[in-house]
Amino acid sequence: MSGLPLLLASLLAFQQTASGGPHRIAPDIWQSRGIGHVHLVATPEGNVVIDTGLFLQADHHRRVLGAVTSEPARYVVLTHAHADHASGVGPWVGGDTTIIAHARFPQTQRYLYELAPFQTRRNRIYYPGVIPASTSAEASRAMLPQVEPDLLVRDVNAFELGGTRFEVIATPGAEGADSVSVWLPDRRILFTGDFLGPIFPMWPNLYSLRGETIRSATDYIDSLDRVIALEPEMLVPSHGEPVEGAQTIRSNLERIRDAVRYVHDAVVDGMNEGRTVHELMRDIRLPPELHLPEPHGKLSWGVRAIWEGYAGWFHGRSTTDLYPVAASDVYGDIAVLAGGAGPIVTAAEQHLDGLLPLHALHLVEIALAAHPDHLGALRVRLTALERLLEDSGGENFFERMWLTHRIVATRERIGELER
Ligand SMILES: [Zn+2]
Repeated sequence: MSGLPLLLASLLAFQQTASGGPHRIAPDIWQSRGIGHVHLVATPEGNVVIDTGLFLQADHHRRVLGAVTSEPARYVVLTHAHADHASGVGPWVGGDTTIIAHARFPQTQRYLYELAPFQTRRNRIYYPGVIPASTSAEASRAMLPQVEPDLLVRDVNAFELGGTRFEVIATPGAEGADSVSVWLPDRRILFTGDFLGPIFPMWPNLYSLRGETIRSATDYIDSLDRVIALEPEMLVPSHGEPVEGAQTIRSNLERIRDAVRYVHDAVVDGMNEGRTVHELMRDIRLPPELHLPEPHGKLSWGVRAIWEGYAGWFHGRSTTDLYPVAASDVYGDIAVLAGGAGPIVTAAEQHLDGLLPLHALHLVEIALAAHPDHLGALRVRLTALERLLEDSGGENFFERMWLTHRIVATRERIGELER
């Protein structure tokens, strides 16, 4: 099996992870859990659905929420264009359904669709077992049915249904420029999509290793101010658990806002002082009172995202960055000058002994460019990667998955060569 059938089979198997339900999170608010949750607010005049989950879990969610209603939704709000929120819209749409999304949703959806083969290749690293190795470009795009919203939100769009007021509020920043949240003012409940991520509170994912456009830190700060002013008493994200308690919510929202502002300002100061992005990635740390977990986004990657979000990819350090010859193109020459891979590996081992795994990794990349199957170099690479994973504590999902992916590949290569 290859291409679409294999992808379908794999995702259908993964679908079994979706748990039962529906879960009642308020008297009239229901949740179907999955890779991305679907929320349904039931009113006497019809239902409002907030996020629709992944394409291949769409029927599952519809079935689960069928215990509440068999009607199509009157309104569907898509909090952003990511597939785990917007690709399951099909079963909810009827004759008078209004689909609401951010004004930037169409262009975000378009670039995600165009880059689907690229992103599928990367997603395989972070979600192994969900996306098989042989997914074709056609299959990766087939998972992204294109949605045409009826109503685009630039600032706020409010509507009333069955006596409940809904406000769809633009909250760009953390998970993309096309993020909206849904506010129920009479109940002080805010549906946040991915605006705050799966764990609350956490450092935002300003850049995703899956390969997406950089998210704006200053947009995020503005959106957080907007959300703080609402004074929510309950947050309902599309991943993870709802959060309750006005005081807890407020203090954590303020901490996230202040932490992002602190890092943003430190990056800007550093750029103006002529410091390099690597220095800033190394040196910028949050003060203890603003500390945030980094399970999804990583602070040092946020530093780089802010730097490159403002100044782009040319760091003004090496002329060679302007031309299509990479430093790695001369690694082979360096290896020859060093007298082969052996002396480089010895130097890399000394870095490992000195607890400098990244220095070791840089050196063995030079050795491996000239001698890809050099066992000593591969063993140093393996140890360096394992050390990085250990030093990281495995806190950050994307870092953990990337390092694990490289560790597995290196181990496999060593095993093949030793056979
Ligand atoms: Zn999501």
